[in-house]
Amino acid sequence: MNPVHEEYLQTMQKDLFNIAAFCATQYDCRQQFLCKYLWPELSSSYYECNNCDNCQRRNEENPQLTNASSEILEMLEIVEALTKDSLMEVSPDNIIDMFSRSNTDKIRKNKYNELILQRNAKEIKLYEEKPPTILVPKEIA
Ligand SMILES: [Zn+2]
Repeated sequence: MNPVHEEYLQTMQKDLFNIAAFCATQYDCRQQFLCKYLWPELSSSYYECNNCDNCQRRNEENPQLTNASSEILEMLEIVEALTKDSLMEVSPDNIIDMFSRSNTDKIRKNKYNELILQRNAKEIKLYEEKPPTILVPKEIA
């Protein structure tokens, strides 16, 4: 591939990731996000505006950081198990379906629900294990 073309595609891919992150973030200040994107060399000088929808949401819901390392490790185990011997393409949706133990047609058709993980020298059937941790709003918890 032409190096100029490849560099252009990488820049566009990075921009797409940034746009997706901007859309998906729930608590990060949008003004701060845009300033960091446009002028990253000044990123330490931007403050939260306390006026955008995300700042208002953050102030209303007062979210707390939690340690999600066990969930992240489980997700990585699933990715490793799905991609280890498979020639099939695995999508992010497949991984999320597996992590949340969804019982979709695709999961059953591909027999992902029979996936076995190697954990501490033991074989564990993912779908027979305890259900995954589910994130719920603070009011319900
Ligand atoms: Zn803001």
